[in-house]
Amino acid sequence: MRQIDHFLAKPAPSGSSSRTHKVWNPSTGEVQAQVPLGDAALLDTAIETAKEVQPGWAATNPQKRARVMFKFKELIEANMQPLAELLSSEHGKVIDDAKGDVQRGLEVIEYACGIPQVLKGEYTQGAGPGIDVYSMRQPLGIGAGITPFNFPAMIPMWMFGMAIAAGNAFILKPSERDPSVPVRLAELFVEAGAPEGLLQVVHGDKEMVDAILDHTDISAVSFVGSSDIAHYVYKRGVAAGKRVQAMGGAKNHGIVMPDADLDQVVNDLSGAAFGSAGERCMALPVVVPVGEDTAERLKEKLIPAINALRIGVSSDPDAHYGPVVTPEHKARIEGWIDTAEKEGAEIVIDGRGFTLQGHEDGFFVGPTLIDRVTPKMESYQEEIFGPVLQIVRADDFEHAVRLPSEHQYGNGVAIFTRNGHAAREFAHRVNVGMVGINVPIPVPVSYHSFGGWKRSGFGDIDQYGTEGLRFWTKVKKVTQRWPDGTADADNKDAFIIPTMG
Ligand code: NAD
Repeated sequence: MRQIDHFLAKPAPSGSSSRTHKVWNPSTGEVQAQVPLGDAALLDTAIETAKEVQPGWAATNPQKRARVMFKFKELIEANMQPLAELLSSEHGKVIDDAKGDVQRGLEVIEYACGIPQVLKGEYTQGAGPGIDVYSMRQPLGIGAGITPFNFPAMIPMWMFGMAIAAGNAFILKPSERDPSVPVRLAELFVEAGAPEGLLQVVHGDKEMVDAILDHTDISAVSFVGSSDIAHYVYKRGVAAGKRVQAMGGAKNHGIVMPDADLDQVVNDLSGAAFGSAGERCMALPVVVPVGEDTAERLKEKLIPAINALRIGVSSDPDAHYGPVVTPEHKARIEGWIDTAEKEGAEIVIDGRGFTLQGHEDGFFVGPTLIDRVTPKMESYQEEIFGPVLQIVRADDFEHAVRLPSEHQYGNGVAIFTRNGHAAREFAHRVNVGMVGINVPIPVPVSYHSFGGWKRSGFGDIDQYGTEGLRFWTKVKKVTQRWPDGTADADNKDAFIIPTMG
């Protein structure tokens, strides 16, 4: 069986953990590889090299650092097809969607290519008599990233792209469920000219995560995953004196106003709810039609569209979506559909028990539509993270603003309308971090920043863009004076707090 290894500059210490985790092929239901689960001793080895290479990298001028990023970008582009195939075979998302995963990460690398421009500090000449003040952004030292299974290319690149361009060394702990692409990215990074040890990949589970959170040589931790773990990571990392950003789960709502173009909405919703089998933190698993008439018209159009979806193995070019990631996750999603049924919701299209002919052991879940869902239901309050769309009917616009605003998660939200005033009101008032107006998956582009609110994000600095730069650097402020030697040596003012007044 294929063995996936850590990606370290020095060999793993002898006697470190021999625990492993299986990596499935979700389309066939077979175990295709094994990944080792590292421990604190292994992390120490990675940190040792990171400490050796980081000062030299930070001292490398930003233009030279940008050249490595440019080369890395070219290598990813040249390797897009094999990267997407590898990603798809472990995750289960279809190949074109896997390319999108790589591409959205690549866009952050492209932003990081502009590091000489974005790292420039601020300067004030003559802030006082003969005094100038300037500030500069300096790297933190060693940063770490802990990433989820659902974007094994994009999310690591959100993190290490910005961290490394800013002058840090980086330790990546990817999801143990689809760990191969992160390793491949690290290999390509060395091929691009990065010093060995600048980007290392350590595999593992809670044991390795705890080792990262407690390690005194790691200054900052970026985490993306489910909310309970994000909260845990945030608290433990902050208690250990680190800077932490921890993005969590989501339950994004799509508000459909009575004047919306329903054909467009159905098309957008189908992709946003069922694409990648719903395993996206910016999926739209809840649709909120405003008014009974809108709900009925929407439902009538949704049913045939959902019934027409094609589920296939992840390499099927005609499939709309593939299997979910593991057998446990399939069982969990089906369990949520059971819960919704028990809670009294109406299962309009039932994806439980779905099998794909010829791939009966694959982890497929059929598309599911659930109507008459109410805010009190647990199946509404919690994240399902599968190909399940829930309809929550709103009485009016105010009700529709309240639903996502009062939900425990606040990652993304969308409104579909032709009314500019309603859209503007909604965008201003809704208590959610990322808003789409007639855009179903409003993931901001790489030169803006990504981050949800409430239980979707702990910490207050977003991912990538200028926020990412803030997260991975600290600001040094320098106040300088170059005396000309004529100053009064017996100046009593020296005893008074300096002011510029
Ligand atoms: P997860 O929380 O199970 O795992 C995330 C990471 O935490 C992995 O690297 C995993 O190894 C590690 N981990 C697992 N259990 C742990 C524990 N007990 N203690 C410490 N670390 C642990 O998440 P997942 O299932 O891989 O990913 C899906 C989740 O991520 C969903 O909730 C989704 O909404 C969320 N997500 C959020 C965003 C965002 O930006 N808000 C983006 C993508 C995914």
